[in-house]
Amino acid sequence: MKTKIVLLITFLGLALVPAMPAAEKEKEKEKKHDHDHAKREAGPNGGRVIHSVEPHYEFFVTEDRKVKITFLGEDKKAIAAAAQTVSAIGGKRSKPTKMVFASDGGSLVSDQPLPEGNMVPIVLTVKVSPEAKAVTEKFNIDFSDCPTCDFKEYACTCDH
Ligand SMILES: [Zn+2]
Repeated sequence: MKTKIVLLITFLGLALVPAMPAAEKEKEKEKKHDHDHAKREAGPNGGRVIHSVEPHYEFFVTEDRKVKITFLGEDKKAIAAAAQTVSAIGGKRSKPTKMVFASDGGSLVSDQPLPEGNMVPIVLTVKVSPEAKAVTEKFNIDFSDCPTCDFKEYACTCDH
C-alpha cells in the first residue's frame, strides 16, 4: 500500500514538471537572455536607464511622444519623484521644443510631445535636489524598433 502511494506521488510529480506555467517559462527565458547578452537593462516602463545621477532614472517616451522620467530605487523599481526636477529641449537646434515637466503618478512627464521624426535629439537636464548640480544628458532618441529585442533602439537592451 505504501509503495503504491509513493508511486502515485512520483507519477504526479513527473506529470506536473513538464506543465510549467507559461509565465514561468517566460521568466526563465528572460533570465537566460539577461545572462547571455543583455549588458543594458530596461526600466520599469521599458525605457532607457540613465546612471549619471543618483537615484538613477528611466528615460521613456509615451505613446503620445511625451518624455516620462521615472526615478529608480535600489531595487530598480520606480520611486516617486520628490525633490528632483527635470527640463528638456528636444528637436533640431533651429526649431527646439522646450519642455517642462510635471509630476504624474510619481513620474515626471513633459508638458509637450517631442518633435516629429524617427531620430530626435534631446538635451535633458536633471537636478536631483534644489541644491544639487544640474546634470545634462545629450543623445538622439532613435524611435526605430530594434530587430533583436522588444524595445525601440533608444531603449534597446542589446549590446550593439
Ligand atoms: Zn535590442
